[in-house]
Amino acid sequence: MLGLMMADQLRVAGILEHAATWHADTEVVSRLPEGGLHRYTYAGANQRSKQLAKALLRAGINPGDRVGTLAWNTHRHFELYYGVAGLGAVCHTINPRLFPEQLVYIINHAEDRLLFFDLTFLPLVERLAPVCPTVEKWVLMTGPEHLPARSALPGLCSYEDLLAAEDADYEWPSFDENTACSLCYTSGTTDQPKGVLYSHRSTLLHALGISLPDSLGCSALDVIMPVVPMFHVNAWGLPYAAPLNGAKLVLPGAGMDSASLYELFETEGVTFSAGVPTIWLALLQFMREGSRQFRTLRRTVVGGSSCPPALMKAFVEELNVTITHAWGMTETSPLGTAGRLKGSQLALSPEKKAAVLAKQGRVVFGVDMKIVGDDGQELPHDGTAFGDLLVRGPWVVRDYFRSGSPGELTADGWFRTGDVATIDPDGFMQITDRSKDVIKSGGEWISSIDLENLAVAHPAVAEAAVIGVPSAKWSERPLLVVVRRPGMDVSAQELLDFFRGKVARFCEPDAVEFVEQLPHTATGKLLKTQLRKDFAGYELP
Ligand code: ADP
Repeated sequence: MLGLMMADQLRVAGILEHAATWHADTEVVSRLPEGGLHRYTYAGANQRSKQLAKALLRAGINPGDRVGTLAWNTHRHFELYYGVAGLGAVCHTINPRLFPEQLVYIINHAEDRLLFFDLTFLPLVERLAPVCPTVEKWVLMTGPEHLPARSALPGLCSYEDLLAAEDADYEWPSFDENTACSLCYTSGTTDQPKGVLYSHRSTLLHALGISLPDSLGCSALDVIMPVVPMFHVNAWGLPYAAPLNGAKLVLPGAGMDSASLYELFETEGVTFSAGVPTIWLALLQFMREGSRQFRTLRRTVVGGSSCPPALMKAFVEELNVTITHAWGMTETSPLGTAGRLKGSQLALSPEKKAAVLAKQGRVVFGVDMKIVGDDGQELPHDGTAFGDLLVRGPWVVRDYFRSGSPGELTADGWFRTGDVATIDPDGFMQITDRSKDVIKSGGEWISSIDLENLAVAHPAVAEAAVIGVPSAKWSERPLLVVVRRPGMDVSAQELLDFFRGKVARFCEPDAVEFVEQLPHTATGKLLKTQLRKDFAGYELP
């Protein structure tokens, strides 16, 4: 028997409509790539998103068509999220930091028909356009005054001109909640980029999931500034969760440097933020240098790579900001787990609490996870057994966009994350490595993440990476590659001594090499495939 409740379809435009009606005066503030701040309300954002939807329909965009963006976190990008998805088309956010050949691959694979880009990326798109034949029109996300005098870009026009030609008299259409709304390609750390096609249903459920108090946690009292870019897994869902909760939204534009971020945190009264560890490591340095404090910021979410415990400690003790460590991937929308204590853990000592919170956390409702051994058998939740992490749930990918090869899931319907993890009896998951980064030494597995976290706790270490290098006796041994902090000196031996007593002897790195910088992916993660190439043929002393 079916229930007798209304069958309203979950649609992302419904989020903005809700905010425009019930949080009409709540602000969305953006730093513009072309300079200055832009400020309006959710009511204004809904109107302009409707104007955009009408402009897209006039340009011949149909439900299901892909519309690409190469853009920073701004109100115009926010309008694209809602305007494109609202009419039933697909907002395809593209990471401009990818290599040009990856960008060309992604745009052609997605068959984007229109491409919206920020002024910053004009030189880039001029190089891309000749090899992206599906793009009929390139739209510069600013006013007409910034249009170049001459350009070979097909159909080039300004965003503001497109909107000026439309009014906001438009009803968001209803359709099946399983309709696609946005598309994001993985950054290809380990493979070719693959497209993850989110649905209205998955996006809405995920936005509710991240709003829960034990998850990222959002409220109408918050002022949320996602530092994570809107081209990186939909800024972890915050551009949906903020209007859903009626929180003020602050979008930092292209200014991702610490001084610009700090200025916005302070002037806009930001309470809650989110970003990858590199952002917070740089910000910590900046705060220390000027003996600065945050007036309103009290919480931030750190994920995308392992958050060093030393960073969590410094943020709480020196800046009175709590870090929630979260894990996820493009394929999981992205939130999978978040590190929030359970009631039974409140009585633990401060050290033990910190150790729990340093883990990647526990699942939020909507995600289920397990770890399995090489034979596919489930491993115990004892905090020591580690194996391949599998996940499933309504916001986890089932198949990649146009993958041509069905069957990304296990026979019983789980998604293989490619991460290796432990799960403790309280359900806290800890990533020990990506399966391709694990160091296999004489039959034992060594976690590169553990060693990296320890290395960055040394005052002279700015950044560290650990990779396996060939060893005749052990097959592989850990090599620590370090970037020194400016003006600081430390020897290889001092660093090796630093590990003594902190990890099992067999896990200690065998050697240390110093470099000027480490290779990173477009989303700021260590690019270990490159590092392994750089150190190919390395001979241990
Ligand atoms: P890509 O797979 O292309 O790097 P993603 O942004 O989807 O792009 O990366 C997801 C991966 O990032 C995860 O599978 C995991 O290896 C890593 N990751 C994410 N969050 C964390 C975290 N908190 N700790 C350790 N690793 C993390």
